[in-house]
Amino acid sequence: MNPRADTSHRAVAAVDLGAIAANVRAVRARLRTGVFLCAVVKANAYGHGALPVGREALRAGADLLAVATVAEAELLREGGVGASILILGPLTPEELERANGCSAEVVVWSDAFARHVARTGGRVHVKLDTGMGRIGLRDPAAATRLVRFLANSGGVDLVGAMTHLATADQPGSSFAREQLARFKDWTDPLKEEEPGLLLHAANSAATLALPASRLDMVRVGIAIYGLDPFQNDPEDWGLAPALRLTSYVADIKACEPGDSVGYGQAFVARRSTRIATVPIGYADGVRRSLGGRGVVAIADQRHPIIGRVSMDMLAVDIGAAEVGLGDTVELIGPSVSVEEMAGRLDTINYEITCGLSQRVVRRYLETTSRR
Ligand SMILES: *Cc1c(COP(=O)(O)O)cnc(C)c1O
Repeated sequence: MNPRADTSHRAVAAVDLGAIAANVRAVRARLRTGVFLCAVVKANAYGHGALPVGREALRAGADLLAVATVAEAELLREGGVGASILILGPLTPEELERANGCSAEVVVWSDAFARHVARTGGRVHVKLDTGMGRIGLRDPAAATRLVRFLANSGGVDLVGAMTHLATADQPGSSFAREQLARFKDWTDPLKEEEPGLLLHAANSAATLALPASRLDMVRVGIAIYGLDPFQNDPEDWGLAPALRLTSYVADIKACEPGDSVGYGQAFVARRSTRIATVPIGYADGVRRSLGGRGVVAIADQRHPIIGRVSMDMLAVDIGAAEVGLGDTVELIGPSVSVEEMAGRLDTINYEITCGLSQRVVRRYLETTSRR
């Protein structure tokens, strides 16, 4: 055994790989046969751990993985991932060389970058900006010229044509359909020149709620983790949250009216109560603004986070509940969903799990039945 393995319980993210696999299968079950499933494991798999999650997603039927940066692609290769890896973000010429060095596929989003690719070669996806306004060519005619240029460059493998939807997670919005129509106007004639091009546009929200967006491949991130792109209940889509964030009760003290807790005396007891100190804080990714706003669960019972969340600790008002030293404190899990925590913080579930820091120990479970 690794003598330096972290056996601490202070801040633990337990990731259920069985849930990851079940989510991959739940997404797969919605796809026509032959549609590729690209599991997006950028940002350390949204905080869940890129290598274990990426491997599990591939085992469960994902066809390839996507990341945002070249370092993320290298990490997967060093971990032994042999499947295709697509890097979604923009790259410098130096990063392009590294991408080729680990046989990752890259996105071509501008004429300048296409010229670099023509020099180095590589496997590429050409991106049209149909309304997201980030990377991608705006002008379909220019994008077609770029495809032709790359098709005539030795060493360049034209793999895909792609776009990205800005509003797929807003059920009432018609903009996603407009973007898809623009993409189709570009790719319909293009497919006649390059029939092998893999067309892709859908993120999780589009994959789930906009079947017409699935095309030849879907790029699914948040849903793989069992989180809801619409910020409601993932169960609505048959998804199972994979991550449980826990700490433990390190101290319990009685608090009399007038006693204060934490920085700035943000909490002052108005009645007699008991306060549990929990060794997890904003340096672990438990946001400071949860103070006075968040909840935790101890033995399935919910209690408010009071006072300020500090860097390494927070305080919970446990009242007269039967709570003992060492009891597990759940910050995210069956009793407190990521969506609930995100709602209390006025943000989205993505930001919550991506924000879990390196200091949080990741443990991997295989508890959910592997159907
Ligand atoms: C992050 C990302 C995705 C995945 O989005 P989810 O909403 O997590 O499914 C897909 N495509 C691109 C280009 C991305 O950057």
